[in-house]
Amino acid sequence: MPERLFATGAFTFFGIFAALAFLTGLGYSLYRRDPFSDALTRAWETATMSILGGFLARSFIGVLLFLADDSPNAILAISWGFFLWPGALESAARLVGEPLLQPQHLMGIAAAVGSFVGMADGLWQVHKCSGPIPFTFLIDVTWGLAGSTNGALFHIANFIWGGHEQDGRKSGHRYKSGFRLKSGFAVTQGSVMSNMGGHGPGSSLYKHEMVHVLQNRIFGPLFVLTYLGWMAVWLLPAFLAGLIAKSYTISEAIQGWCYFNNPWEVWAYKVGGYRNINAAVLWSTTTAVVFAVLFFLPVLGLAIWAAAAVWG
Ligand SMILES: [Zn+2]
Repeated sequence: MPERLFATGAFTFFGIFAALAFLTGLGYSLYRRDPFSDALTRAWETATMSILGGFLARSFIGVLLFLADDSPNAILAISWGFFLWPGALESAARLVGEPLLQPQHLMGIAAAVGSFVGMADGLWQVHKCSGPIPFTFLIDVTWGLAGSTNGALFHIANFIWGGHEQDGRKSGHRYKSGFRLKSGFAVTQGSVMSNMGGHGPGSSLYKHEMVHVLQNRIFGPLFVLTYLGWMAVWLLPAFLAGLIAKSYTISEAIQGWCYFNNPWEVWAYKVGGYRNINAAVLWSTTTAVVFAVLFFLPVLGLAIWAAAAVWG
């Protein structure tokens, strides 16, 4: 186990990444014309968090694999639960009978994602320094890795043109513009909020998106997978309902049932944001709660069964 977590190759990677992170932090601060001492502080934070993030993420995945004897089921469960895209890739590969991913691949992905998240979090100094490792950061590079993987992709997509805002240590990133699924809609993955317009801390939209940051931190893979699962389950019923109904269109039914009535969104909209859609497709709170229970009970059972099958 120690030789797995403290492999020389991994530390060479962390060292090179940290050196680049240090230069990135220094360059960014000098570009902002920060005083030199502040630039050094930022560079140091960027470098150390990149090492920490990479090491923590890689160790977390390494331990999970170890506890399941590196079994093929563990590889599948971890790649879906903590990185999402490799899970889809591995499932596709297995469908054609050619398993693709090995334990070292997942540990490599974890090292890359964790280092990148650490670099971004250090560069923009988003976490409150409480204790040796900010708790929000610790969660983001372990339990919350599925959201953080997509968050890292948002950073890459938004870096040049997204307009990263300076909100201080609020444990989230806010891009004024950047990646979006629909114009006028913000989207959040991990701790990264994209396409927020001018809606800063204190605004209704910001509060809504921070709920998604929190959901990822508390529920980790369960949040990411059930958010997508809910959409998949309701897509066809919504399409059929929209086809038959007179008071709303197919597009409204799909947006309403898959998105606005999604329990994770119902929760977030209770806190902030405005549901701008034909009210005929919106459920009452009672209906939303009933469907949420009917959805989450079997899903939770399935999740426990899968975890027991892999690690039990
Ligand atoms: Zn939302």
